[in-house]
Amino acid sequence: MCSQPIYFDYAATTPVDPRVATIMAQCLTQEGTFANPASRSHMLGWIAEQAVERARSQVSELINADPREIVWTSGATEANNLALTGFMRANCKRGRHLVTSTIEHKAVIDTALALETEGFKVTFLTPDSYGRISPNCLKEALRDDTVLVSLMAANNEIGTINDIQRLGEIVREHGAAFHVDAVQAIGKLWIDLELLPVDMMSMTAHKIYGPKGIGALFVRKGIHIEPLIHGGGHERGMRSGTLATHQITGMGEAFSLARKDFIKEVNHLENLREKLLFGLNRIKGVKINNDPDKCVPNIVNVGFEGLDSETLLMALRDFAMSTGSACNSANIDPSYVLTGIGMSRKRALESIRFSFGRYTTDKDIDKLLTELDKILPKLRYE
Ligand SMILES: *Cc1c(COP(=O)(O)O)cnc(C)c1O
Repeated sequence: MCSQPIYFDYAATTPVDPRVATIMAQCLTQEGTFANPASRSHMLGWIAEQAVERARSQVSELINADPREIVWTSGATEANNLALTGFMRANCKRGRHLVTSTIEHKAVIDTALALETEGFKVTFLTPDSYGRISPNCLKEALRDDTVLVSLMAANNEIGTINDIQRLGEIVREHGAAFHVDAVQAIGKLWIDLELLPVDMMSMTAHKIYGPKGIGALFVRKGIHIEPLIHGGGHERGMRSGTLATHQITGMGEAFSLARKDFIKEVNHLENLREKLLFGLNRIKGVKINNDPDKCVPNIVNVGFEGLDSETLLMALRDFAMSTGSACNSANIDPSYVLTGIGMSRKRALESIRFSFGRYTTDKDIDKLLTELDKILPKLRYE
């Protein structure tokens, strides 16, 4: 029998929690909550609507927002598109300048580039060597026509946390709106939108044990965005389309579990990280690329001196990890996030992201470290 690789790619996606899967399954078949939540003419529709609204409350409770500020989307890619394009188009009379950074998720960077072709202006900020955006750097980029700033709460490759409170204050003082991609921060950092100066925030279910294909955009009361998808006027006109009851209840349950088990979960991740870092630091030629002090607890980005990461991934076939690099036919491009924080192309191509989560055990970390001890000398001196 072939056993499954040990999963160290939680930052790419997580398995669905069985408790979430149970709730989702109840929304599919004839006996379940299958009706259209927009059907107002019968009880089955009302029950489906109730299920959707309950999930909306569960999502808003984790981030301390009003349920009316949550707009369902197909994921964070759509939420980022809606936030940037929807806001810039709706507010183009006030200004056409957007500020973001070079190490955002592609869903932000590519949306910003698409906006440039529509005549909007974009400034891409450069982070420091750990991936943080400095408040001064942001201040200097703001212009009279800046209407929106979009920065991530935590980076998906290196886990670096931005000071959202401080950056948001600067944006607010300037009178612009602040969008935050919080995908990698949710369930790892405590987010309180009653306190944070954030106007829009992107979320997704599948990175915290919910299903793929569902996410949400928090849109603070008073913020105006244009819809990207037109139709029946669902989600108060911001995002039309029949609501995916099973996906939505799954996301609600995942967010509710994240809230309930927050401390336990973070402790678990911190213990795993400590164990992994302790083991890695004993191995020669290993360099930790991220700043463990200001980083989400489930991501460790590691450079292996003199070893190309693709070769190492092949040798570590009993484990599932990723590099941030992208293959373009003949060439391999290093991760734009790692080169974006000033790393050389060579070092970036020697780096691997280990990310772990709810179902990772101490034993998994031990197995990984043992395997590294075994294969690194072989690969280096072959
Ligand atoms: C995964 C991810 C996204 C994209 O989310 P999807 O729901 O898969 O579209 C956006 N931003 C960050 C930081 C991510 O890690």
